Amino acid sequence: MKRGRFAPTPSGYMHIGNARTALLSWLQIRSADGQFVLRIEDIDKPRSKPHYAKQAVDDLRWLGLDWDEGPDIGGDYAPYVQSEREASYEAALVQLQEREVLYPCYCSRADLQAIASAPHGLTAEGPAYPGSCRHLTAEERAGREALKQPALRFALPDRPIAFHDEAAGEQSFPAGAGGDFVVKRADGIISYQLAVVVDDDAMGITDVLRGWDLLDSTPRQLLLYEALGMEPPRFAHVPLLLGPDGARLAKRHGAVSLASIRERGIAPELVVGLMAAWSGLHDRAEPIEAAELVRGFDLCRVPREPVVVDEAALRMLGSDVS
Ligand code: GLU
Repeated sequence: MKRGRFAPTPSGYMHIGNARTALLSWLQIRSADGQFVLRIEDIDKPRSKPHYAKQAVDDLRWLGLDWDEGPDIGGDYAPYVQSEREASYEAALVQLQEREVLYPCYCSRADLQAIASAPHGLTAEGPAYPGSCRHLTAEERAGREALKQPALRFALPDRPIAFHDEAAGEQSFPAGAGGDFVVKRADGIISYQLAVVVDDDAMGITDVLRGWDLLDSTPRQLLLYEALGMEPPRFAHVPLLLGPDGARLAKRHGAVSLASIRERGIAPELVVGLMAAWSGLHDRAEPIEAAELVRGFDLCRVPREPVVVDEAALRMLGSDVS
């Protein structure tokens, strides 16, 4: 039985790009008669607001999506809110520490910024950590420990990571790609990478479908699955939506949040129709119900290149682009 999930971070209003990911993930699971889970990823508490989580639940239902387990309906793997699952992340940290794949990092924000401004210091998702704290002696650690609470980083092995992606095809990342990553921040917050792996495993997720922006995270997550002795799910990373200017679709492109689209009185079927058209699932941008797309859904039809949302479509969503 396939089990999939949609896992929004409630740090702002859900926008049409995330909603499209939710639709595709939901279709992948519903077309296979599987179970769909909604999980709220509010592990970064300072950035998350309960009001956005509530709005996300509401927006997804408005689109015509449903789930078998989630924060509003419960389920066998409750709670479905990361801020209530911290004990399991701490238990995973203990396991990782026992396997000696973590080390404390005392670098300050200023140190990390200096890395970012060094030539070749930047990767697609920020500065690649060069491992400055990886080989500190016990004495050096003790000295720094007295001054600063460390973050915990995962020490990447010296080998490339390859995997098959159901949407993006074969992937291979060179050894050390992105640098040793944080699993627990100095302020005590568990990283997305660790929380998502622990939850997907605990919730029996077999299929992760999400945006291309998280493709780079997958090798790290695979290493965590391996270190924790867990079986990883299948992954499918779908291309992002771009605005008419070719930049990633964002607020400045107009009415892209579902909240603003709803406020303008646009019908959910039109929004679903547009999202389906951008995903190769529907010939024209005509209104359609999400449930009508379940039969015959095929991930192969989703384009492998980013999709440009044109001004006409933005206008249909109520944007006043000129
Ligand atoms: N919470 C993540 C986000 O909103 C998604 C996590 C995932 O799908 O792995 O970007």
